[in-house]
Amino acid sequence: MDSVILKAGKDKAVRNRHHWIFSGAVARFPDFEDGDILAVRSSGGEHLGYAYFNRRGSIVGRVVGFGAPAPRDAVRKSLAGALALREGLFDPAVTNARRLVNAEGDGLPGLVADLYDDVLVVQIATLGMEKLKPLLLELLVEALRPRTVYERSDLPARREEGLGDLESVLYGDPAGAEQVDVLENGLPFRVRPSRSQKTGFYLDQREMRALVRRMAGGSKVLNAFSYTGAFTVCALKGGAVRADSVDSSEAALGLAEENLELNGLPASSGSFVAADVFSFLRSPNLDYDFIILDPPAFAKRRTDVVQACRGYKDINRLAIQKVRPGGLVLTFSCSHFIDPRLFRQVVFQASLEAGRRVRILQEHRQAFDHPVSVYHPETAYLKGLLLHVE
Ligand code: SAH
Repeated sequence: MDSVILKAGKDKAVRNRHHWIFSGAVARFPDFEDGDILAVRSSGGEHLGYAYFNRRGSIVGRVVGFGAPAPRDAVRKSLAGALALREGLFDPAVTNARRLVNAEGDGLPGLVADLYDDVLVVQIATLGMEKLKPLLLELLVEALRPRTVYERSDLPARREEGLGDLESVLYGDPAGAEQVDVLENGLPFRVRPSRSQKTGFYLDQREMRALVRRMAGGSKVLNAFSYTGAFTVCALKGGAVRADSVDSSEAALGLAEENLELNGLPASSGSFVAADVFSFLRSPNLDYDFIILDPPAFAKRRTDVVQACRGYKDINRLAIQKVRPGGLVLTFSCSHFIDPRLFRQVVFQASLEAGRRVRILQEHRQAFDHPVSVYHPETAYLKGLLLHVE
């Protein structure tokens, strides 16, 4: 197989099991087509592993196998390892929705696979992974025997790879892509993979939903950026006296109402408000004991960070200002460019400006089926703080 030769002194990242190869690290490319897998060698000719390459982006290569094993064997092994890791983590009678593959966190850059009961939804971000799709599909179908495999590849990152959006049923029953009911911590939720955000459901918040269920008893709860109301359902199941859901998406709120019904909760348990959270939080007379802020990633690029911090500070200041004395604010950022320290600084500044005494009760990260490789920390993105406000 043809090899990519790295520049002298630019092989440390790959040696340290980081998956990305930047264009500046490459001394010489062989003849190849974008998306092909190539061997990677140091300037001294030492074999380091295999990566797929695409000349378009600044990240030109993504390693699929470190060391000697043949690349397709390495992919097979990573996939088998990802599936094995999840076995035993969940009792399917209680939780049957989980992330099976978390990209670099599972050694498979460019691939996310989420299982919703018997419906598998895959999301492919790169041309190299796109070329591995037939192999992955074969392996996934063999291992999981799903009813449906649906591809939901509509990520902005694909543009940088020269790829358009792709959404289609790859295998099995097309109805599975339309709608599937899942269980999370024993509670039913409806997911519509083909008509939703991401792959359909925010699996990364599973443990936080359990936390909300434990902490919401007797509270009046605001679920801001509610999406399909998963936190709302958990708050009400945990004994909240009322839980209101605010989201800019009418479709998401419609599904939130269905999710209340699915859980045997009366529609009068809260209101569903289609609004911009930034203006909703400015409305007078808000009287919540518990405010959940789970916004979309405000910083999608590194250059967005300053602007994004302003957004995070705004909503946190307003929530901290308005929550009732002795109340709770559960606040998140899912921008990976905002690291946990920066997020704490933003919350510190927001608290200062709100003029309330604020204490952190707990810190959180993405659910444990979203592993982060210690060698490739970029897969960490979600962080959360549970705040007590006097
Ligand atoms: N907490 C949710 C996931 C939230 S995802 C869950 O557990 O399922 C972020 C949500 O914010 C999306 O549903 C999106 O429609 C909504 N959103 C984005 N910008 C918004 C804004 N400015 N005001 C209100 N909702 C917004």
